[in-house]
Amino acid sequence: MRIGICPGSFDPVTNGHIDIFERGSKLVDKLIVAVFSNPTKQPVFTMAEREEMLRETTKHIPNIEVASAEGLLNEYAMSHGATIIIRGLRALSDFEYEFQRALLMKQIEPAIETVFIMANTKYSYVSSTGIRELACFGGKLDGMVPDYVEQRLKTKFKDKYKV
Ligand code: ADP
Repeated sequence: MRIGICPGSFDPVTNGHIDIFERGSKLVDKLIVAVFSNPTKQPVFTMAEREEMLRETTKHIPNIEVASAEGLLNEYAMSHGATIIIRGLRALSDFEYEFQRALLMKQIEPAIETVFIMANTKYSYVSSTGIRELACFGGKLDGMVPDYVEQRLKTKFKDKYKV
């Protein structure tokens, strides 16, 4: 069985991520979406909340499994039988970071292949960071995140969305 893994912080999941899951899931038998905490970013949602939003918004993808993960990605992937890391690539600015990460991963775990899927042009400007910034100022979010996530953001920043 070919198992892929989409690691990320997903704080929160966006339509850009979901587009990558839909396309990535067709390349593997099982796709694990693994929520990692990112020590360099101040989170808006807890790991449990991010996991729950992912579960809710990926129900339509049959071969997906959502999980919270910790520790090293290579160890997590290998212990779950995943040998393909699937990442989305938006702009040139993503490239440098992803290129370094993919090479580092190859160095520490040669059995794992990192595969990139080019962002859908519709979502190439969407990032979780941008969404968090918009939401904390009460900005419009339609079309960028699933409705479920939009509601969760509006609840989280409810003082900003009062009319
Ligand atoms: P990280 O904190 O590791 O960057 P993210 O949750 O921000 O994790 O992103 C996880 C993956 O999804 C990364 O490969 C990222 O490039 C990709 N991604 C994020 N936003 C988009 C988007 N709008 N379109 C395509 N891929 C995206």
